[in-house]
Amino acid sequence: MWRATVLTLFPDMFPGPLGISLAGKALTSGLWQLEARDIRNSATDKHRSVDDTPAGGGPGMVLRADVLAAAIDAANISPDRPRLLMSPRGTPLTQARVAEIAAGSGPLIVCGRFEGIDQRVIDARNLEEISIGDYVLSGGEIAAMALIDACVRLLPGVMGKMASGEDESFSAGLLEYPQYTRPQAFEGRLIPEVLTSGDHAKVADWRREQAGNLTKSRRPDLYAARGALEPGQKPPKNTTDG
Ligand code: SAH
Repeated sequence: MWRATVLTLFPDMFPGPLGISLAGKALTSGLWQLEARDIRNSATDKHRSVDDTPAGGGPGMVLRADVLAAAIDAANISPDRPRLLMSPRGTPLTQARVAEIAAGSGPLIVCGRFEGIDQRVIDARNLEEISIGDYVLSGGEIAAMALIDACVRLLPGVMGKMASGEDESFSAGLLEYPQYTRPQAFEGRLIPEVLTSGDHAKVADWRREQAGNLTKSRRPDLYAARGALEPGQKPPKNTTDG
């Protein structure tokens, strides 16, 4: 079964939001497992200290390599599972990487705190640094939750009858088209007629066009890269280069 093993100084933060709604129901019904392990349990001195001042000086504290390595080793992760470190310096997380992680047996995720963690444990335990965006959080826990949430919704059985995510933002290298539901009129704004026409081909064309236009204006970087699709992904039709 897919399992996320999280190393954190704040295990009480879990499952947190992952215990609610889609991910929470899937967790309760046993479609995935979550283990939050306290890094502090691997501290060795009598004060159970996990951090120390940065070598070379500077503000804040750094998570110790020996303590974190012991915590990683104690988690006893099988070698096929990815070992991730949430980090603002990491490779930006993408839906493609999320899909890969979801397809495996589940990651080990190290959550940093303070100024970060000693470089030697990143090297010695071969941690893959992953960022959830170009901003700095106070700890890796919320970033880990974002990653886990994105993976869990792709696990078999979790989204149920909802589409497999094929039509969603990023799945074909495009952002998603606009969605509407009843009422037909809202403050004088109507649902686009094509969506209530019952003509599925026209609906599909309209959505493709909308997704293309939206991506072109909001995310020109994605739009330009949309040719480089993952195997099995459908190229968008009826779009022209801008
Ligand atoms: N001094 C560090 C920031 C430390 S923030 C630097 O400038 O790079 C403390 C912890 O929060 C990090 O170790 C990391 O685990 C987590 N974190 C902060 N921002 C993040 C982001 N954008 N993505 C993933 N993890 C992040």
